[in-house]
Amino acid sequence: MKVCKFGGTSMADAAQIRKACGIVLADPERRLVVVSAPGKRSKTDVKVTDLLIALAEKALGGAPPEKELAAVLDRYAGIARDLGLGEGVARRIEADLRGRLAADRTNRARFLDTLKAAGEDNCARLVAEYLASTGAEARYVSPREAGLLLTHEFGNAQVLPESYKNLAKLRDLPGITVFPGFFGYSPQGAVVTLPRGGSDITGSILAAAVKADVYENWTDVDSVFVASPAIVPGPRPLPEITYREMRELSYAGFGVFHEEALAPVFHAGVPVSIKNTNNPSAVGTYIRPDRTCPAGQVAGIAAADGFCSIYVSKYLMNREIGFGRRLLQILEEEGLSYEHTPSGIDNISVILREKQFGAAREARVLERVRRELAVDDVSVERGLALVMVVGECMRRVVGIAARATAAFARAGVNIEMINQGSSEVSMMFGVKVADMARAVRALYDEFFGRAN
Ligand code: ASP
Repeated sequence: MKVCKFGGTSMADAAQIRKACGIVLADPERRLVVVSAPGKRSKTDVKVTDLLIALAEKALGGAPPEKELAAVLDRYAGIARDLGLGEGVARRIEADLRGRLAADRTNRARFLDTLKAAGEDNCARLVAEYLASTGAEARYVSPREAGLLLTHEFGNAQVLPESYKNLAKLRDLPGITVFPGFFGYSPQGAVVTLPRGGSDITGSILAAAVKADVYENWTDVDSVFVASPAIVPGPRPLPEITYREMRELSYAGFGVFHEEALAPVFHAGVPVSIKNTNNPSAVGTYIRPDRTCPAGQVAGIAAADGFCSIYVSKYLMNREIGFGRRLLQILEEEGLSYEHTPSGIDNISVILREKQFGAAREARVLERVRRELAVDDVSVERGLALVMVVGECMRRVVGIAARATAAFARAGVNIEMINQGSSEVSMMFGVKVADMARAVRALYDEFFGRAN
């Protein structure tokens, strides 16, 4: 059994939905289909999810949201008409949205999630209807009925373990089941959404629950590339990769597959196949538990900006028991999550995402670190980017770091920080944001030959 997830561009209009359904119908193993809300039809278009957010915000502001409602309805009505589904579908979607708008607004986040979930929910119903109209045995199943339980965290929910047992039953349904991505229900009965782009996570949860042979993730690119095409022109495709490599790459900006989507399939050992709805015969990228590769091979180069570092130094830090814990405890008490902690004998840097570390928080943290830890020096550096060299087969191969640092030196990129996890699957370099693209190109030239 295959679980297929189709992203927003695969649902963007009737022609795309026809392509996606053609793919589903071409293989009887494709029995569980997860869909996103209709996405962008062109670069300047707006995703239905964003239209729904605008609708919810207008309603929360107290003004009549008729214009915003019409924008959402137009998208669905156009799709339903072009798929030949008849008037009733658009009327049902309108009733659904008006029902959601009538929900209690005291909790803004809850109201917002109820509206956001409408994108995927209505899309899944519509796809099931279209499949049935072609004569296929197809049904929509709601996350409530199927028991997809998530934590009670609006816009940032996580799967609860009992979901897997509930969802395993989907395996026994005959025909094709169409399931909306991106949302589920909390134990309190509220609609809760996953982080943005979360339909990838729904697909992964379902694939793990039904123990699928493969989780097919249908998107709009031929494959994952070894470096971002936005930085390196015409990078090489990446036909095969391990979960760990993909995790490292998507952490640092490989947007093809949601960062949090790997965990469920990883634990269940279900491989992932990333495919292009617009070019199904392209090989795509296959993500599996292990792979064989030549010693020293680099799988990919990723980079992400938006980081900052807190640098702390204190003479004889290495002898002070509990120093690291107390430092991290200050961050914990300030509600900050940290990414990395490269350290020296008498100093430690804590790398954080910049967006959670505003000026007020920075002032509080620095004051506490100075006072509670009696440090010699503490400072914050902003505008950092992380550049990662990733590859399972780099493990125990001598000289990869030397090649990377020599490439940086040739390109005139100053390395602010280096970190290599003990797993040796990745090497991380901190550089200034302004140097990020140059750093990635330098590494690409070194490990993959000159960019073409
Ligand atoms: N529609 C949601 C979003 O735009 C979820 C998804 O497409 O995966 O974030």
